[in-house]
Amino acid sequence: MTSPTEPAAPVCAPASVDLVVVGAGPAGMAGAVAAAEAGLHVAVVDAAGQPGGQYWRHADERTGDPEHRPHGWSTYLALRARFDAVRASGRLSYLPGRQVWFIDRADKPAAGGTAGFAVHTTASVAGSGPLSPDTEGAETRVLRAGALLLCPGGYDRQLPIPGWDLPGVMAAGGVQAMVKGSGTVPGRRAVVAGTGPFLLPVATGLAEYGVKVAGIFEAGALRSWVREVGNAARVPAKAGEAVGYVAKLARHRIPYRTRRVITAIHGDDRVAGVTVAAVDGDGRVRPGTERQIACDLVALGWGFTPSPELVIAAGADTRVDVDGSLVAVVDDAGRTSAAGVYAAGEITGVGGATVAVDEGELAGLSAAADAGLRVDTTRCARLRSSIARGRAFAGAMHRSHPVPPRWSEWLTDDTVICRCEEVTHADIRYAREHLGAHDPRTVKMLARPGMGWCQGRVCGFATTHLSGAPDGAAAEPHLRATAKRPLAAPITLDELAALDDPNR
Ligand SMILES: Cc1cc2nc3c(=O)[nH]c(=O)nc-3n(C[C@H](O)[C@H](O)[C@H](O)COP(=O)(O)OP(=O)(O)OC[C@H]3O[C@@H](n4cnc5c(N)ncnc54)[C@H](O)[C@@H]3O)c2cc1C
Repeated sequence: MTSPTEPAAPVCAPASVDLVVVGAGPAGMAGAVAAAEAGLHVAVVDAAGQPGGQYWRHADERTGDPEHRPHGWSTYLALRARFDAVRASGRLSYLPGRQVWFIDRADKPAAGGTAGFAVHTTASVAGSGPLSPDTEGAETRVLRAGALLLCPGGYDRQLPIPGWDLPGVMAAGGVQAMVKGSGTVPGRRAVVAGTGPFLLPVATGLAEYGVKVAGIFEAGALRSWVREVGNAARVPAKAGEAVGYVAKLARHRIPYRTRRVITAIHGDDRVAGVTVAAVDGDGRVRPGTERQIACDLVALGWGFTPSPELVIAAGADTRVDVDGSLVAVVDDAGRTSAAGVYAAGEITGVGGATVAVDEGELAGLSAAADAGLRVDTTRCARLRSSIARGRAFAGAMHRSHPVPPRWSEWLTDDTVICRCEEVTHADIRYAREHLGAHDPRTVKMLARPGMGWCQGRVCGFATTHLSGAPDGAAAEPHLRATAKRPLAAPITLDELAALDDPNR
């Protein structure tokens, strides 16, 4: 495996390639490797400093503790060996620490002489500090590509609750990223809450680092899985994982309570405790069941939501998935509705790392086949059936762990919905009831949720649901309108000006 401590190859990323892959998580790595092995020239742009994405996030390879390795590490190592091999062969350029902020159709032809895309990149946080990774493309701001494979993954979905803006409240994925990435624990006594199986690795991961986990509070009920036995059985490995987590919960004495939610988080200048209550299947609190638990860390996770900016920028169609997320529409080869644009992994629907790897590989092979290269069609068929099994399981998971429809009943008037712009629940209600705002976009214009630094990535789900659109706040046009972010990352004015400069 090439270590980022070793000097980068003395080449710059070619400004023009056959395929640009965005993201080096499970989907992007698999897609890039498959396409490069099939013969395409590929550039991988990744905002992170080293490959692996969210699932295989690991300690800095230059300094990290090799004892702590994420799940599926052997799959990562095998993929990483192939990634490094195609990189050494010169068919794959890797640009870590760079973020794609804009995509447009290119006016100059890409590698094969075909018109394609101009992919504009900027340094990400991982690529801008003194420890930024060596990169083959630090000076390559704009890549020209015949085709694109978009694998940007996603992030934690959050629901606002009273007190969620206190220091010590974190997204479950953020807690896990700290633990996996640096072995840092952000508290001594934690409560983990929300819905879905992801709460389990977060809680057990904290416990393994010595944090006392006072409980996991799951809004769903395990009996919901009974309806899904057929779909769950299609991926037997998941049952083994579940058994492993049950054993870990017992070993660390972590209580696991279903049909429970946190209705309020308490503290003056940081978290001191939470109120937990029993709820019915719709999320209505059962009066008299509230109790307080002391803690200094709250990890909240309501599933994940994909990052659709680049899919929208590329002009590809989107749809609403079973979990309410806006995702890219793809065919059974990973092609989106936009010619030359492929998508794989979480962006096509939150489904886990195994599906992401299979989808990435299939999309990479499809890009190669569409470019006229020979690919193994038996392998493609095998990948399709594996993806179908994984997607069936993912659907079962989403149906068993929905966001409770009555969650907004836990809000108070002064609950902050948009933390960037400090917009409260009362502000949004006022815009609806007195200013005539009846869709998320108008609410956004009149009350300003989603107008701040994160551009609605954190509050977008809540705002769309609170806007009370008559056709259903979760309708695709509303979600697409709130997810449209012409600039996918913050950039400097100089970078913006360079768009108009033919010499840069
Ligand atoms: C915080 C978090 C923690 C998770 N932990 C677990 C876990 O413990 N167990 C589990 O089973 N699943 C976990 N998941 C889900 C799991 O990560 C996914 O199923 C899997 O990683 C999806 O792979 P992917 O390649 O689609 O996306 P990701 O792994 O998310 O990779 C996407 C990559 O794209 C990069 N990227 C995004 N936008 C841009 C851009 N504009 N320009 C350049 N690069 C970009 C990101 O930096 C990232 O490296 C987690 C998800 C999140 C969000």
